[in-house]
Amino acid sequence: MAHRDDDRSRSETWAFETRAIHVGQDPDPQYGAVAPPIYQTSTFAFESPAQGARRFAGEEGGYIYSRLGNPTTERLEQCVADLEGGYGALATSSGMAAVSIVMLGLLESGDHVVATDCMYGPSRLLLERELVRFGVEASFVDTSDAGVVEAAIRPNTRMIYVETPSNPTLKLTDLDAMARLAGRAGARLVCDNTFASPMLQRPIERGADIALHSTTKYINGHSDVVGGIIVTATAELRTRLDRMRAYHGGSMDPHQSWLVLRGLKTLPLRVERAQENARRLAVWLESRPEVATVHYPGLDSHPQHELAQRQMDGPGSMISIELAGGHEAGVALLERVGLMTLAVSLGGVETLIEHPASMTHAGMSPEELAEAGISPGLVRISVGCEAYEDLERDLEQALAEQTRSPSPSAAIRR
Ligand SMILES: *Cc1c(COP(=O)(O)O)cnc(C)c1O
Repeated sequence: MAHRDDDRSRSETWAFETRAIHVGQDPDPQYGAVAPPIYQTSTFAFESPAQGARRFAGEEGGYIYSRLGNPTTERLEQCVADLEGGYGALATSSGMAAVSIVMLGLLESGDHVVATDCMYGPSRLLLERELVRFGVEASFVDTSDAGVVEAAIRPNTRMIYVETPSNPTLKLTDLDAMARLAGRAGARLVCDNTFASPMLQRPIERGADIALHSTTKYINGHSDVVGGIIVTATAELRTRLDRMRAYHGGSMDPHQSWLVLRGLKTLPLRVERAQENARRLAVWLESRPEVATVHYPGLDSHPQHELAQRQMDGPGSMISIELAGGHEAGVALLERVGLMTLAVSLGGVETLIEHPASMTHAGMSPEELAEAGISPGLVRISVGCEAYEDLERDLEQALAEQTRSPSPSAAIRR
């Protein structure tokens, strides 16, 4: 498909917003369809037995079977690889498929991993409870402190795995420092870039070997598709992980790919709008007496505000808050919001609110929660694209209610 090469050369002069809409998304060469066709097929016909043999031998391009590659999925891969500044990408059936393909594909028995302590729960459990059975060791540390990471590195450390901004504490990890440490240790640097999206942070440009995403979140952005994607810095890593994806089986299907590609076109618009809402909401929340702490990299009060400005193109739209009233006050807030939806996940156009200690991070022990800085009263908000005034009003009434009377179900809980 010749149009791909044209895309690559043209895209170098295009801005991010233009590339999100056009890379990998040329009109269909057969009928000129402006929206990419969905190649809803499991298998592809060969013109001759010799052609089938050549494709299997890797001597000829073209498709064989959709678990191994599909034209609709490749359009998405091409676009995200371009936006991340990577060599290539592999779309997966979920974010967890991306995480497990990277870990299974790159780690060997006897290897050690240094990872962000408050990383996405299932990613941590995959290392801690499953890969340990295959002889992989992991240390979970506060990667926002490069000294702590350096001290955790062992002679057999082969991977530094980070999430920045971290979930739900919004601490940042210095990617330049991690790339230096990984280089010195002979380890690979993997960054789960889900929270920032390529719009705000491109880890490969800072020396990471791999950036991965749950496309369920910002990249798709409409809370209607589960998916993931792995972006590699080199051809060699793409080949290695392509093979692992074929055996693991977690490829993205063509219809899923088409939906994600549709969502991706508006990533810049959505991220800008949600971020503007989040900036205003964070400042407003900081002024409220009911709120003890606001964690948001866009605030001057964020301990790594300067790193946020250096490493990210914007602070994003995830906010977490600690209420002065602790756990009870946090639960009461969740009960009283009207517009904001009580749900886990993030990165959609609608604002979602949740309680990490009892929901997304419930798999962690009280000690692990404390170590990771997740207090019992922490509330996480994924700010969406609604009108700002409606979001502020919703929180205002929920907080005001709280100062007037105890939560209606406080008696039931304790
Ligand atoms: C949601 C999420 C994942 C897992 O993605 P799924 O699409 O749910 O499998 C991984 N990492 C982060 C940071 C996430 O937010």
